[in-house]
Amino acid sequence: MANNEESRGLKSLFDWFANRRKSGSTSLERQEREIADGLWHKCSKCSVLAYTKDLKANQMVCVECGHHNRVDSDERIRQLIDHNTWKPMDEHLRPTDPLEFRDRKLYSDRLRETQDKIGLIDAVRTGLGQINGLPIALGVMDFRFMGGSMGSVVGERLTRMIEQATQRRYPVVIVCTSGGARMQEGMLSLMQMAKISAALQRHKDARLLYIPVLTNPTTGGVTASFAMLGDIILAEPKATIGFAGRRVIEQTLREKLPENFQTAEDLLQHGFVDDIVPRTQLKNTLAQLIALHQPVLTTPHMVLWETMSLTSTAAE
Ligand SMILES: [Zn+2]
Repeated sequence: MANNEESRGLKSLFDWFANRRKSGSTSLERQEREIADGLWHKCSKCSVLAYTKDLKANQMVCVECGHHNRVDSDERIRQLIDHNTWKPMDEHLRPTDPLEFRDRKLYSDRLRETQDKIGLIDAVRTGLGQINGLPIALGVMDFRFMGGSMGSVVGERLTRMIEQATQRRYPVVIVCTSGGARMQEGMLSLMQMAKISAALQRHKDARLLYIPVLTNPTTGGVTASFAMLGDIILAEPKATIGFAGRRVIEQTLREKLPENFQTAEDLLQHGFVDDIVPRTQLKNTLAQLIALHQPVLTTPHMVLWETMSLTSTAAE
């Protein structure tokens, strides 16, 4: 009997240690899984660990050092557009491979892989929505899709969005981030620069407001076209903005370039950028600028027009 109890005691003690080990390893596994699932985020500037939830609440801006972490188009739309007002446009437009281009792999394979991996069809999302109750047309580039490169679909989506905005008399905001034109589409990608610029000119002729927001990095053909055509050009702090890369210029000029070369701050000093706006203030700043430049003019006009058309229908 005593022996039995003793052995039971031993057994349970053994079980207890075994369970403890097991639960210990589970919690460790869980911890690792949580890190892998992105529960924590390590700042690439100051290396401070932050809860992804807290970081997201601060719009992916490091609370310690103010570093603006890259955000994807989903997150960006969530940050800027009022809840439940986003209406995406032209989601059916898909890229093709007319040149049957091959670098290390086929362009068509690269496209398919990227689409499967990040769940986007191309590198820009466009749509209509409201920003603090004001209607806007918004384009958001996504750097995850082949470095936010501008191919035919990016050009076509932005152009259609701008044309829609001109028709509706909406202001246009484009959040830029791009490595430039998409070389896999050759000349067809370069043509997009002219196409988007022409659509913007018609938008401007209609006396409508366009604000590009330059985020890290905005380079190449995007800088050489719509990123620099804004009525007011905003940039995020420390964003790299330029045409050719720093190394290429250094090699060509055989000169060392200054530390702050191609930064938003340097561009502000030289008048290429009108203001640097921290991401946490971006939505309110945009709403304020839009409200200032597009006073309620459109709304009473529309109301008046609608009342008139209603009375004329009633009279018939
Ligand atoms: Zn930091």
